Amino acid sequence: MVGASLACALADQRVKIALLEAVPPGTDNPPSFDDRGISLSLSSQRIFSALGLWSGLEATARPVRHIQVTEQGKFGGTRLHAAAPEFDALGYIVIARELGQVLNKKLAVLENVDLICPARVDRVTNADTAVQVGYTRPGLETETIRAGLLVVADGSGSRTRSLLGIGHHEKDYRQTAIITNVTVERPLEDTAFERFTPAGPLALLPLDKDRYVAVVTVAAADADTYLALEDVAFLDYLQQCFGRRLGRFIRMGRRSVYPLQMIRPDAQLRERAVLLGNSAHTLHPVGAQGFNLCLRDMFELAQRLCGAFRTGNDPGSRALLEGYVAARLPEQERVIAFADRLTWLFCNTHPVKTVVRNAAMLLLDLVPPLKQGFISRVTGLRSIHPALLHSADRA
Ligand SMILES: Cc1cc2nc3c(=O)[nH]c(=O)nc-3n(C[C@H](O)[C@H](O)[C@H](O)COP(=O)(O)OP(=O)(O)OC[C@H]3O[C@@H](n4cnc5c(N)ncnc54)[C@H](O)[C@@H]3O)c2cc1C
Repeated sequence: MVGASLACALADQRVKIALLEAVPPGTDNPPSFDDRGISLSLSSQRIFSALGLWSGLEATARPVRHIQVTEQGKFGGTRLHAAAPEFDALGYIVIARELGQVLNKKLAVLENVDLICPARVDRVTNADTAVQVGYTRPGLETETIRAGLLVVADGSGSRTRSLLGIGHHEKDYRQTAIITNVTVERPLEDTAFERFTPAGPLALLPLDKDRYVAVVTVAAADADTYLALEDVAFLDYLQQCFGRRLGRFIRMGRRSVYPLQMIRPDAQLRERAVLLGNSAHTLHPVGAQGFNLCLRDMFELAQRLCGAFRTGNDPGSRALLEGYVAARLPEQERVIAFADRLTWLFCNTHPVKTVVRNAAMLLLDLVPPLKQGFISRVTGLRSIHPALLHSADRA
């Protein structure tokens, strides 16, 4: 998602880009562009708009205008609403697979981007003059590209990060997200739900007329048991957790699973190489912040690279890469801490945390400035790049 977005952001630059991807589009189980519903913040919508991609996404993106946050077994909760005219929606839900189609369609017509796929990166030699990237295509000998800059965007388990000698540390939340689509009896227009249950958070994101993407968090040790349930029994479990505010849960689609971890590398750059996307930071999906944060990083890097191309400066210089990391680190730290605190607060049945959690939800509901601050975090507009303030789709 992030590497392809960066290539689109560097469209029309007088520079040649090789985009190496291990898994071809249209594969049954792609690691990135799968059937997950991704919650895009307004900042991400603005970025896709600036890249000329929003018009392709808009037809299927579902606006979220209301968010209801509740806890199983407790009354009340918090409600967030999009306040027009400031903004018409709090965010949008897109299916990762559809986002992939829009990105791939754009990549196919970009003359300066060479999509090499399937191709797996398996060797990197970097020096202060150039970086050499070795990759293998099925049935072929290893080939090598020599470049001025390597942007590493191969996800949480980033092999290329290790090839660069960058270590990482992990925090295992001992939770698994199970994702599926559910059809409900009485949908509520443009409304997303986050419900906290003793097993972990359950999110329902609006997909189309009466379907929602369900993101169900369970203890990792119980994941196999939930996966083994018949559809009827799994729907029953969801209904129990969620209650009847959307009527009966009628049908569900295929289930897929994601182990949940926080992963942070020991560094984000090496000589002529920089980490981007989940290889630079992987978060718990509870606040739906991961991809949105990655896109804001991507946009900052793209702006700096375009500036270097324009002025004839070296795009892989240490000064450029250090400037990029320094500019993004404060927001990365804030968002990572926010997602981790949400996990601490909401994925736990400890009585003290329950009290803190209820007080937090009540305060959020009753104190308008707090609510406003929370909304600006959810929308991502607090951290928007100045170049995006007045962006319109340039498709
Ligand atoms: C359950 C769940 C729900 C989420 N929901 C949201 C949400 O609602 N909102 C949000 O903002 N974020 C969400 N996220 C986070 C989001 O999915 C990630 O931030 C995003 O996928 C990161 O994209 P990426 O391109 O960095 O990595 P990936 O999407 O993992 O892509 C990495 C790519 O690199 C390729 N690759 C791997 N190794 C190699 C190699 N050696 N050579 C060549 N190619 C290689 C892979 O094939 C893949 O295509 C969610 C995450 C999870 C787990």
